[in-house]
Amino acid sequence: MTTSAKKGTFAAETIRDPRWAAVGARDPDADGKFYYAVKTTGVYCRPSCAARPARPENVGFYTTCEEAEEAGFRPCKRCQPSRPSLAEQHAAKVTQACRLIEASETVPVLEDLAREVAMSAYHFHRVFKQVTGLMPRQYAMAQREKKVRLELDRGRTVTCAIFNAGYNSSSRFYEKSNKVLGMTPSNYRVGGADTEIRFAIGECSLGSILVAQSDRGICAILLGNDPDKLVRDLQDSFPRANLIGGDADFEQLVARVIGFIEGPCIGFDLPLDVRGTAFQQRVWQALRDIPIGQTASYTEIARRIGSPNAARAVAQACAANMLAVAIPCHRVVRQDGVLSGYRWGIERKRSLLEAETEVELKA
Ligand SMILES: [Zn+2]
Repeated sequence: MTTSAKKGTFAAETIRDPRWAAVGARDPDADGKFYYAVKTTGVYCRPSCAARPARPENVGFYTTCEEAEEAGFRPCKRCQPSRPSLAEQHAAKVTQACRLIEASETVPVLEDLAREVAMSAYHFHRVFKQVTGLMPRQYAMAQREKKVRLELDRGRTVTCAIFNAGYNSSSRFYEKSNKVLGMTPSNYRVGGADTEIRFAIGECSLGSILVAQSDRGICAILLGNDPDKLVRDLQDSFPRANLIGGDADFEQLVARVIGFIEGPCIGFDLPLDVRGTAFQQRVWQALRDIPIGQTASYTEIARRIGSPNAARAVAQACAANMLAVAIPCHRVVRQDGVLSGYRWGIERKRSLLEAETEVELKA
């Protein structure tokens, strides 16, 4: 083959790869999912790098920084692919600020918070709003109200208000489990503790949120008004599982899920542990394919999964969804566009759709 023919083959291969489109779009959602390297410069980049676009015949894709470096490429100075992404840095700073707010007896001054996380007040305010959907002051006020509400028997609040530090030690969990789970520890272990599921409860703009994770990924995101009821729902859904209260690391995960719910444009990139029948899984996958800011009818989803007469079964699969927002069953509406049922309440469905429409308008 001649050199130019080889180039053509390489180029065609790159162009066929869906990752090339993400590079062309400088898609920040693709960051962390892969890296691309440029043969002519010897440098590898994140998909969102602002560097001048490379020619497709010179581009190769790698899943991790290590792979790119093993292949002899060095990190781009501009997008610094081996360092935490901007979104990750922002999330870390916002989490840190949330902790400071939660630990503070009074509502902290914006400038003080910004200084603590080494940002300008202006930039910090913007980033905080972007990640949490709230201004720092609103968040602080909400925290204070919550503290008053919860102080009676639930101990102090922690990151994004995970409500019960008592779950952190198993002995205290057992002490409380009768009250929280409505059954005794020996009962709930009947059937064999074949799975360990960690969970924690926080507060978000939609009310209380329970996030649970198995060793395979996030297995439940439940929304509601009553934290105890959320724990019961979890228990009912995983009756044989061994439920364990989340530790400090787990709070970070909850904070990330909350960040995703508050800012739909962030994109949900955490692994999910989706459990359901083959039919339910097909419905849920079709829901995940509905773009943000758009809706589809039950009939339409039924058609998309190749079962055009199964609209009712689609609605049932939506109602059985354990992963609020991550599997966006809120994007399914009646054929006439009316918001129909939602496992977590019609008002939450409305709020979610409104927030997503705003994102779409801004984009
Ligand atoms: Zn770069």
